[in-house]
Amino acid sequence: MASPEIDALSQALARLPGLGPRSARRAVLHLMKKRETALMPLLRALETVAEKLSTCTVCGNVDTIDPCAICADPRRDPRMLCVVEEVSDLWALDRSRLFPGKYHVLGGRLSALEGVRPEDLGIDRLVARVAEGGIDEVVLAMNATLEGQTTAHYLAERLDRFPIRLTQLAHGLPVGGELDYLDEGTLAQALRARRPVA
Ligand SMILES: [Zn+2]
Repeated sequence: MASPEIDALSQALARLPGLGPRSARRAVLHLMKKRETALMPLLRALETVAEKLSTCTVCGNVDTIDPCAICADPRRDPRMLCVVEEVSDLWALDRSRLFPGKYHVLGGRLSALEGVRPEDLGIDRLVARVAEGGIDEVVLAMNATLEGQTTAHYLAERLDRFPIRLTQLAHGLPVGGELDYLDEGTLAQALRARRPVA
C-alpha cells in the first residue's frame, strides 16, 4: 500500500511504547498531511535531541545538557535529594512539582532474580554525593514492589552513618505499583506523607 520508506517509518513508530501498528499508521498519515507544521518540527526536534542526548554525570537523568537542567537549576534546594530507580520515575515525580530538591537515578533496582547487584546501580555515586555533605534529607522513592523495597532497605543501611534525615514515600502507593503509572494525585500524596525509614 505504501512505499518501503513509509512502511519503515510506520514500523519504527509502532515500536514506541504506547503506540501500536494502528496508531503508528495514523501518526504517519498525520505527519505526511502536515509536512510543514508537524513533520518538519518533529524532524528538527529529533535531530537536536539525538545530537545532544547525554546522561547527567551528577544525577543520572537524561537530558541534552550535562549537568542536566534539574541539577543546574539554582532554584532547586540542594539539601534535599530524592532517590529513584529509573529516569521515568524522576520525570513522573517532577511532573507533580511537589519536590523542591534534586534527584538521584539508580538505573534499576536490586534483583537476585535478574542478577542486579549493588555495583550495577548508581549506589556508590549516591553514597559519594551524600558523603560530600550539604544534604539534609534523602527521600527513598523506590517502587512499592518487593525489589524496590529491598533496594530501599539496602540504601538505608548504606546511608545510615550520615547525619541526614532518611525518609521514604508513604505507601498509599498500590502494592506492586510503579511510580510512572500512578496518577499525579496519588504520587503527590505519597510524597507529602513521606515518613522516616524504619
Ligand atoms: Zn542531573
